[in-house]
Amino acid sequence: MNYYSAKNKRLRKPFREAVIEGLPSDNGLFMPERITQLPNGYFGNIVDKTIQEVAFDVLKPFVEDDLNEQQLQSIIQKTFSFDFPLRKIKGNHYALELFHGPSYAFKDIGATFLALCLEEFYKDQQEKCTILVATSGDTGGAVAAAFSKVKNIEVVILYPSGKVSELQERQLTTFDENVKALEIEGDFDDCQQLVKQAFLDADLRKRLNISSANSINVARFLPQMVYYFAPFIEFGKEPLTIAVPSGNYGNLTAGLIAQKMGLPVEQFIAGANRNDVVPRYLNSGKYEPQETIQTISNAMDVGNPSNFQRMMDLFSEKEIKEIVKGFAFSDEDTLELMKKVYIESDYLLDPHGAVGYLALVEQMKTSKGKGIVLETAHPCKFMDVIKKVADENILPDSAQALMQKEKKSVKMEVDYEVFKDYLLQ
Ligand SMILES: *Cc1c(COP(=O)(O)O)cnc(C)c1O
Repeated sequence: MNYYSAKNKRLRKPFREAVIEGLPSDNGLFMPERITQLPNGYFGNIVDKTIQEVAFDVLKPFVEDDLNEQQLQSIIQKTFSFDFPLRKIKGNHYALELFHGPSYAFKDIGATFLALCLEEFYKDQQEKCTILVATSGDTGGAVAAAFSKVKNIEVVILYPSGKVSELQERQLTTFDENVKALEIEGDFDDCQQLVKQAFLDADLRKRLNISSANSINVARFLPQMVYYFAPFIEFGKEPLTIAVPSGNYGNLTAGLIAQKMGLPVEQFIAGANRNDVVPRYLNSGKYEPQETIQTISNAMDVGNPSNFQRMMDLFSEKEIKEIVKGFAFSDEDTLELMKKVYIESDYLLDPHGAVGYLALVEQMKTSKGKGIVLETAHPCKFMDVIKKVADENILPDSAQALMQKEKKSVKMEVDYEVFKDYLLQ
């Protein structure tokens, strides 16, 4: 299957090239040219399937020209190697926990799938590939963990010194040789600027094969379709409302594509923090990007979400307003709900899942059936906020072990020439 640019449908690339390039040359976003329907009756016996079997059925049509069945099976086994449990919060409200992977956030799924695809595509190439990633915390951990398993690709992660949590820093700095962490004496924008400059440096690009693990890479959003099937594996085919805590809208877009394949979701809900351009669009029809506002659900602090372009490519305004309902909430609402759910239901939501849960509760006032919120991160990733909600040690054993590991990073001032020398050494 080919992937076209959402800006220009005639610009088409096979899966392999779309993954390697990340972005089409016109700065659009790659989209699959076909969304293959699942066979009739697929959901009749879905309770007998495993998540890995579903992953194979769902992903095969999107990748089969560039990955054979064995390659795809192997990638799926390694990507979907942990559980996706459904926990009852209250009544007919459930949380689908997507955070049991190596960096305790749902981004592990996309990052791992991308890393393993690139591993296959670079296997037969002579040149070394270096992935450059700037992170404000969350994405870097998923990328570091994912690429630590891929030995023929090197990763350089730039993070702002002193501006990531201790757990996040350990997740970036405790891997082997092929994952290198640069502790930049600046902020996230400085890190991002250094990476951007590297991609614009023709001299560097002649001497070094660099690539990105960008969140808008098709190999990051395609595998995210798969866990939307998990509630149906658990409950069978019944009316479900699914709420997605959203920032850049990659997660929700994956759900929308799954629905186009035949996933029988009744209603999708977008839950946003104060960065609420999409809920406002869904209510008013006006899309007005805004400056990013900082909130306690900071992985969703996005003022102009890239995947909005993908949503608009998939649906007309009228359609999207029916399929997705959007709600936005303040930090105060979020914190209050976290406390309430902790006390009443003995369930600790992270701030992102809490925004999704608020949106779910709002919609379920008028919806029937079961409601599910995607719980996108383990609360231990946001201890500063959790401290205000619960006084208990919630660090998983594996995270405790990580905190004992030695930090390995290279401190660097914000200086492009120094960065370039480092890459070329
Ligand atoms: C990235 C992230 C989100 C937002 O996902 P999008 O695909 O960008 O909408 C939500 N929650 C957590 C914990 C995240 O890390």
